[in-house]
Amino acid sequence: MRLTVLGSGAGLPSKERKTQSIILDLIPEINAYFLIDVGEALQHQLLHTNIKSRKINHIFITHLHGDHIYGLPGFLSSRAFQGGENQPLHIYGPKGIEEWLEVTFQISGTHLNYPFYVHEIHDGMTLSVEGYQVDVRLLDHPIDSYLFVFKEPDKEGSLDADKLKEVGIRPGPIYAEIKESNTFEHDGITYNTSEFLGPVTPGKKIAIHGDTRLIKDSEYKRLIENSDVVIHEATFLDNESEKAHEFGHSEIHEVMELFKSLNIDTTIFTHISNRYDENFLNNIKQKLPEQTYIAEDFFSFQVK
Ligand SMILES: [Zn+2]
Ligand SMILES: [Zn+2]
Repeated sequence: MRLTVLGSGAGLPSKERKTQSIILDLIPEINAYFLIDVGEALQHQLLHTNIKSRKINHIFITHLHGDHIYGLPGFLSSRAFQGGENQPLHIYGPKGIEEWLEVTFQISGTHLNYPFYVHEIHDGMTLSVEGYQVDVRLLDHPIDSYLFVFKEPDKEGSLDADKLKEVGIRPGPIYAEIKESNTFEHDGITYNTSEFLGPVTPGKKIAIHGDTRLIKDSEYKRLIENSDVVIHEATFLDNESEKAHEFGHSEIHEVMELFKSLNIDTTIFTHISNRYDENFLNNIKQKLPEQTYIAEDFFSFQVK
């Protein structure tokens, strides 16, 4: 599982930063990508990677501000010409996304050659997507904006060969049969398979925020605590919490302060305003705690 930020900018793009898009690479796990938000440069950014459009089968939209969705109609229509024929695509987004796409396609005479489904999201729902649990939570922004918490399925423990040998079962095709059943018999004795399995490996938990003011309630903390990776916006970087709040955004220091108590392994900040120059950003980066990053375009992180 790998996360790549394809667009790390805030409302306005700059030469260095395009508007918002994040790819969750699940090719090794399920042979597909999840895309979170579709800034207008997404198609161009993809050309710098080896990501195939037809393998993007699930798109999650945090909110309907232009810097998060204006690349969507273009991406969807291009995908039809890039081997996407008959490859179903699902979009999960706030109320309004379906209507906007319908009008856009109708006016521009766009016809997609693949099945296309839009799922409207709301606060508190849990989606099940390709075996991943996705919790959806409303954030605090001038329009409805959502958090997606992706939870990978837990991985079953592997068979303990030593333990099996102890009861007289030698390695062989029988191991596969044992693993597939709840109980098995050997020399007239019935055993429970669970007694011969190693510990379960918990699935990874990734929390990706739409634009938001800082949220502090206990339900929210419960949702994101113990995450392997959290991606949060940091539209304001210079101790300007009041201003951030006024504009419906967050300030990086207040977010880091909150996260200190939530046992989050890695934090990635994105939605970086173009009013901060490189010197300023470098200065902030030098003071970040361990496992905390400010994303650039194409910043990529392997979730271990
Ligand atoms: Zn935004
Ligand atoms: Zn926004």
